Amino acid sequence: MKTEIKNVTPESLREAKNFINAGEVVAIPTETVYGLGGNAFNDEAVKKIFTVKGRPNDNPLIAHVHSGYDLSKIIDYDPPYAKKLRDAFLPGPLTLVYPSTGKVSPFVSCGLNTLAVRIPSHDGAQAFLRAVDIPIVAPSANLSKHVSPTSAEHVYEDFQGKIPLILDGGTCVGGIESTVCDVTGEIPVILRPGLITKEMIAEVVGACEEYTPDFQSGERVKSPGVLYKHYAPRCETALFAAGAWTDALEKAKAAAKEKRVAILCESELVGTFQVLGVTVLDLGRTATEMANRLYGALREAEGLCELLIAIEPKARGGVMTGVLNRLQKACISTDIPHGKR
Ligand code: AMP
Ligand code: MG
Repeated sequence: MKTEIKNVTPESLREAKNFINAGEVVAIPTETVYGLGGNAFNDEAVKKIFTVKGRPNDNPLIAHVHSGYDLSKIIDYDPPYAKKLRDAFLPGPLTLVYPSTGKVSPFVSCGLNTLAVRIPSHDGAQAFLRAVDIPIVAPSANLSKHVSPTSAEHVYEDFQGKIPLILDGGTCVGGIESTVCDVTGEIPVILRPGLITKEMIAEVVGACEEYTPDFQSGERVKSPGVLYKHYAPRCETALFAAGAWTDALEKAKAAAKEKRVAILCESELVGTFQVLGVTVLDLGRTATEMANRLYGALREAEGLCELLIAIEPKARGGVMTGVLNRLQKACISTDIPHGKR
């Protein structure tokens, strides 16, 4: 199959719509990362997404809709505080998990009685979602476990020859996946941190919790995505705490004698590592800048080095929670073995 990359135009949107109606999957830009989209009502299209990505079949998908879409078509209950969150943050990088059964293909939520719904703000995503006027499930357009894509070229690297069309909407401004927030209970619970932070949500609705999975409890985890290795570059990685940058320096010096090494750190430390003569990838100064650059830097690292040494940024809280979550997963996560879930 030939994979075409096309700018978002009335013609490419028509083409994308035809592919979607034929049960195909196409890649679409959003403000967070690129998504691999398919018709949420079509079992075969949904199954194709799992196959093409190599995604574990118990990791549910997010349905994307345009801002005028009638949510009652796909959810069972809309708590009043969820409306407040939509008014405050959507369209934007926030996914809400609602009670929902039997409204879209059963393969979307992998047997959970909830549905994750997102209204992206990216103009190209909105234009595409308006054109198709159905919910589109769109996980990140990367091979499962690999670094998420923030450009059409990243998508092409992973899916060349496997999907017919990539709509090119430029480099993603957000850079990390949406905040996933469960709105099925009394108060919102963040299942995956992102650019819409716990603090921002609490300010709008008075309270917000963060979910920490308990793998020992025997209960099914609320956000199955946490069970899997994620975001990993195809090179060896080592992650150091912010305070341990001198250890990172020693490790880099020793390793550079044997292999190609790259360093990933916040701007403040770049000068410190540049003395080694190895490549230093600058993550940026602010948390939003780091979110924007992280995946691009991880993909760049795989082409540059055999060992990536990453140093955690110093700051904590807010958007940094999401950045750290992705950086830690990229460098040290593994699949949680079935016996331990
Ligand atoms: P991705 O589409 O690759 O960004 O991943 C989607 C994320 O949303 C994963 O972490 C899923 O576990 C999570 N997710 C999707 N649907 C649900 C749901 N119904 N309940 C809880 N988490 C969900
Ligand atoms: Mg993903």
